[in-house]
Amino acid sequence: MFTSCLIDVSVLLLYINVCTSNLVDFVILFQWEVVQRTLNGSQFYTYSVCNVGEREQDNWLRTTFIQRRPAASRVFVELQFIVRDCNSFGDSSVTCKETFNLFTSESDADVGTTFRKGQFKKVATIAPDEITSKNELHINTETRVVENLSRKGFYLAFQDIGACVALLSARVYYKTCPATVKSLASFPETVAGGENQALREVSGVCMDNAISEELPRIYCTVDGEWVVPVGQCQCKSGYEEVKDACQECQAGFFKAAASGDKCEPCPANTQKLNSGALVCPCMDGFYRAPTDPPTGPCSGLPSAPRDLVATTTQLSTGKLLLSWQPPEDTGGRSDITYSIECQRCEGVVCQSCGEKIRYEPASTGLTDTKVSVSELDAHLNYTFTVEAHSGVSLFASQATPRANKPPSTSVLTTSLLYTDPPKITSMRLVERTSTSLSLSWDVFPRPRVQSRPIRYELTYRKKDDNLDVTTYIVLILEKNFVQISKLAPGTAYLFRVQALSSDGTPGGSSMEEQFETSLEERLTQNNTAVISCAAVGGAAMLFIVVMVLFLRRRNSHTRQGPEDTYFSSSEQLKPLKTYVDPHTYEDPNTAVLKFATEIHPSHITKQKVIGAGEFGEVYRGILKVPGRKEVAVAIKTLKPGYSEKQRQDFLSEASIMGQFSHQNIIRLEGVVTKFKHAMIVTEYMENGALDRYLRDHDGEFASFQLVGMLRGIAAGMKYLSDMSYVHRDLAARNILVNNTLECKVSDFGLSRVLEDDPEGTYTTSGGKIPIRWTAPEAIAYRKFTSASDVWSFGIVMWEVMAFGERPYWDMSNHEVMKAINEAFRLPAPMDCPSAVYQLMLQCWLQDRSKRPRFGDIVNLLDKLLRSPDSLKTIADFDPRVSIRLPSTSGSDGSPFRSVSEWLESIKMSQYSENFTCAGVVTMDQVLQMKNEDIKNIGVRLPGHLKRIAYSILGLKDQTSTLSVFAV
Ligand code: AMP
Repeated sequence: MFTSCLIDVSVLLLYINVCTSNLVDFVILFQWEVVQRTLNGSQFYTYSVCNVGEREQDNWLRTTFIQRRPAASRVFVELQFIVRDCNSFGDSSVTCKETFNLFTSESDADVGTTFRKGQFKKVATIAPDEITSKNELHINTETRVVENLSRKGFYLAFQDIGACVALLSARVYYKTCPATVKSLASFPETVAGGENQALREVSGVCMDNAISEELPRIYCTVDGEWVVPVGQCQCKSGYEEVKDACQECQAGFFKAAASGDKCEPCPANTQKLNSGALVCPCMDGFYRAPTDPPTGPCSGLPSAPRDLVATTTQLSTGKLLLSWQPPEDTGGRSDITYSIECQRCEGVVCQSCGEKIRYEPASTGLTDTKVSVSELDAHLNYTFTVEAHSGVSLFASQATPRANKPPSTSVLTTSLLYTDPPKITSMRLVERTSTSLSLSWDVFPRPRVQSRPIRYELTYRKKDDNLDVTTYIVLILEKNFVQISKLAPGTAYLFRVQALSSDGTPGGSSMEEQFETSLEERLTQNNTAVISCAAVGGAAMLFIVVMVLFLRRRNSHTRQGPEDTYFSSSEQLKPLKTYVDPHTYEDPNTAVLKFATEIHPSHITKQKVIGAGEFGEVYRGILKVPGRKEVAVAIKTLKPGYSEKQRQDFLSEASIMGQFSHQNIIRLEGVVTKFKHAMIVTEYMENGALDRYLRDHDGEFASFQLVGMLRGIAAGMKYLSDMSYVHRDLAARNILVNNTLECKVSDFGLSRVLEDDPEGTYTTSGGKIPIRWTAPEAIAYRKFTSASDVWSFGIVMWEVMAFGERPYWDMSNHEVMKAINEAFRLPAPMDCPSAVYQLMLQCWLQDRSKRPRFGDIVNLLDKLLRSPDSLKTIADFDPRVSIRLPSTSGSDGSPFRSVSEWLESIKMSQYSENFTCAGVVTMDQVLQMKNEDIKNIGVRLPGHLKRIAYSILGLKDQTSTLSVFAV
């Protein structure tokens, strides 16, 4: 009975049930004897002693040697015994006792029958709960603990000192925590600790096919109980827990990772594999996108877009609108996009349309079901293929040969017929002598290689032909440039050019310009001037019509707009060098050779990459031309694998730069064109691009230093505009700074505005325009003039005064255009002199003819620099003209409830404490703060100061501005 109830937590070391007559376990040492008794009719034996009538009893009964399991330092001794009532002995009761003592002695070896009392330590005095009288027998059970055992074994001994005792049984055991499995970790049977180690830490081992990040552990208490399991094992992928073990997932189920989860059924469109699957692979024809979870369903490819149609929107600009319906079957996905491919066919020969065609918004990644395609040539057949893609398309194309895929494309063949001739957009003087003028002009859309050539009608006359009779000379030309010779020296001529439509009738817009031959001794001239014309660069002159027309003087046909009068005619007729568009040269290599010096590559040493240009790396290096001083240079390289066209575009920057010579224009040292690796070598600007330089030195320059930089940029721009060069991409990122803080205008590549600038955004007309820097008319109808460069200069002024802040912050391009259209302008940068901000506002006048010219700007900046006091008045924030400020961006217009909420919204929470310590605890107090106050509470970093100050301005402005300017 005893053993059965304790068996799970205890291990028996010794059990003596005297009734079984197993008497060897005790060694009777003195006075104890084995006595047979009868209880309830059954016989049993006891070790007894009963010398109650005698004094000074000292009777010992000792066990045999009890071997101890090493871990068991604590053992329990459970005794069953009887003690007789002393009163029942009459006189003898005087010396009679009713208790006996339990002793123990440790030993590493069995000492046999040798007994030395002195080696035993007392464990306890054992007293009965109930004593046995003459008539009634009471068996007592008492358990005592023997602690701190350390040797190989021990003895127990019972000392009787005059009681009448009978020992029925002794059970000696220790406790264990039984072997167990908890959270899929198995723990071995463990001996419970003793008083010196109440909790024993035990490490477990994960069951088969289970794993754990942390070693599973558990504690065994002194009472043999497991408590506080730490860390757990989980069935690994492909397995799940079933009754304390890990079992393989059944077929058609999967489990992707080790977890306590059950296996899940395979998702839609996947294969139901054998048991133990980690994932369910896609069924044939279904895929997962790389971003899809591997445990998710698989999807099919979309079917083809439907109902593809083309509508002609603007014939004159060669524009079509393609539209279609989404595919009928999206393959179960919502991330459908479309791409367009274009083939142009002449007869049966078809080829890719290449990069010439412009798509708005783009040719790939379209989410809308329409795209506008422009710059198409007339009279050609185009085949447009619209393909539907989804997240799985790319993956599918890698996984499956194309032929096996369902068609995701729709094809449409269409052609465009121009009825209108192209427009002439600008005409310029290329070169002049006393008797000849070379002119060139731009046309839109530009004639394409292989398309039918455009023909032009050039009409000119002497400006001062008086009387009512005017002599017009009409030339029909096939190229957009001409050299007219045998003109009168020092004489102004009026030229008008018009493109001819395919049927030969002049149309489209024409352009009239006045140019003057240079002054020289007048030559004797024939009254009826014989004028011949030769087309430059091999252009074919079709025929010359010399007409003497008797016409009334007409003034009305001119189409000069305000932009054309922007440069007064006197300015244009100044004997100034004029920029020559390298495109005017039929062979661009001729242009490079004309404007740039060829350098031998052995004279160039590349030292370090300093930037990445459109065409290849930009290096810092040394140029050492024999006989000349060594100079630091920047070397632009053309990466390998370029096409001839790319090489020409790359070198065109040198052809342009080489025409300029000004302190504030980046200087071309030369080019390498005759070797495989083409290079452009320019002066080296130690401080790199201006926008980054200012951001890195935020707040480090005084206003007059910033204005000095602007003066340099303005001087460079004046030079460019005087040469009739329109930059189109003036921005702080395209200004370079040297070690004396001199700023120079750079970035002159022909394709730069279109391709190079990361700020460039495609417009509806197909160009790429850096919206934030570009004048409204240039965005709206590509009217790029020096006046639009002035607008950009205003933005550069703002960038400089704001230490490289991004114009219009995080507003989208669309928001910027809308705001500008609604007459809002950037607010004055912090601490910006009022006079400088006024100049910016002038540069941003809607009417471009009213904007200052670069000459005016240089003069004004010079004036400001000469009288530093003029920079002392700081511009105010004026919500009537200012664009929404960053404080309100992203906010729903509702006021901030606390200072900390506001600071958090502008990511300046680190100053919360500064505000609280300064006693600024309400938004009303915040609104009263001036820049000085913000500095005083401990905001020192200029960028942070600016952000907080702008935010406060924005908050003040919020009610007034937001109500009129809701973006
Ligand atoms: P770009 O292709 O002209 O935009 O040049 C790319 C980058 O190279 C610029 O942003 C500059 O950081 C660096 N870089 C270009 N030209 C020079 C130069 N002349 N001196 C110093 N750095 C230059």
